[in-house]
Amino acid sequence: MTLKARIAALIEAQGPMSVAQFMTIALLDPKDGYYATRDPFGAQGDFTTAPEVSQMFGEMLGLWMLQAWADQGCPKNPRLVELGPGRGTLMADMLRAASVEPDFTNDLEIVLIEASPVLQQMQAEKLRGFGADISWQPQFDDSLSDRPLFLVANEFFDALPVRQYVRSERGWHERMVTALDGELDFALAPVPVPLPIIPQDRETAPQGGVYETSPAALALAENIAAIVTQRGGAALMVDYGYDAVTGFAETLQAVGGHRFADVLAAPGDDDLSAHVDFAALAQAGRRGGAAVFGPVTQGALLASIGITERAEQLMKLHPDSAADLLSATERLIGADQMGKLFKALAFAPPGVAGFAGFA
Ligand code: SAH
Repeated sequence: MTLKARIAALIEAQGPMSVAQFMTIALLDPKDGYYATRDPFGAQGDFTTAPEVSQMFGEMLGLWMLQAWADQGCPKNPRLVELGPGRGTLMADMLRAASVEPDFTNDLEIVLIEASPVLQQMQAEKLRGFGADISWQPQFDDSLSDRPLFLVANEFFDALPVRQYVRSERGWHERMVTALDGELDFALAPVPVPLPIIPQDRETAPQGGVYETSPAALALAENIAAIVTQRGGAALMVDYGYDAVTGFAETLQAVGGHRFADVLAAPGDDDLSAHVDFAALAQAGRRGGAAVFGPVTQGALLASIGITERAEQLMKLHPDSAADLLSATERLIGADQMGKLFKALAFAPPGVAGFAGFA
């Protein structure tokens, strides 16, 4: 039975499901979920992420993290956590760069948060050479609250499930997924509900306007902020998304083989993601007690912490790769490429004056 058929059968048995539940099953079903069954990255896969574009991305983030640790007086027993490490490339590049300061890397406990056993395996192979203390957990939880927390996440929050509410003349209705004869469709819940978080401009939303929110992302961000606040550390979250709510449009999308697809067409085969609401994520960080920096664009962050200098240095070492290094740099920081759509947000304990690249 395909995953789509199983979802349809579940809906026929229990009634319509939320978009968030659909997204969770489509991405993480242990047998047929998108992430549970494959390596989706790179030219052969469905999308290419920044660490897969160039080693420079991870190197820059590794030095950023090292600096954040040094600025807080080099706390003992730091824990480095990555959410959704994909192929393990970002962590490998970060560790290599940060090992210029062995006092940081030798002392690190590394925890990788990864739901997919296939990707866990891939990460273990990639990181075998580092001899570091590395363990895996399928989700972030309170076992990570007893040490200074240095956390990085690239293209993780966009994979967390969103709920959608659509405005009618009677109020806001949750958008649900229904099933008929094995086919999936969207339908609005008949009874309007209060919005879980009230967007300030909700009264100006047009009929049919969509309010999208990720309760899972906000709860996680608040929890991370609370740990950073209590124990020290830093959290750096990079993702594609928007800074302020942009006109009640939905952003949930499906991508397969580098092309956009219909969200309901092929659960488990296409990647599903939604733009990250950075304003809401920043608010969640403040609720957790943290000092919040950004969002700044990925282009501004990487340029300000020295990616161009790093590219020049690599070009001297490897003149044959000069053209590739230039185009990779442009892809990461160019405003018409990843430089502007992707943004970075950082959490620090209250009292920390700032972070590199977040002026
Ligand atoms: N950070 C990587 C991969 C991004 S893709 C990169 O930049 O290349 C998203 C990653 O998060 C994948 O590793 C996926 O398996 C993992 N993931 C997605 N949803 C998750 C969840 N709810 N819990 C744990 N891991 C999840």
